[in-house]
Amino acid sequence: MPTITIDYEKCTFCQTCVSTCPMGVYEVQGDKVVVANPDECVVCRACEAACPNEAITVEE
Ligand code: SF4
Ligand code: SF4
Repeated sequence: MPTITIDYEKCTFCQTCVSTCPMGVYEVQGDKVVVANPDECVVCRACEAACPNEAITVEE
């Protein structure tokens, strides 16, 4: 399973990753975006590219 990390020091809760991920890996929980379904990740790296703050790291 890939390891997906959100750096909450950088994240501004724009939710771009939630709308970008084709696999529904991210979910909004309260005032945070969380990695809810990492087992669904296909390592396409669209979220890394889309995050405006370089807050996401995907490691295989
Ligand atoms: S795209 Fe980046 S800044 Fe926006 S909610 Fe996701 S992790 Fe946070
Ligand atoms: S690498 Fe692709 S499938 Fe994995 S969380 Fe990011 S956008 Fe979703």
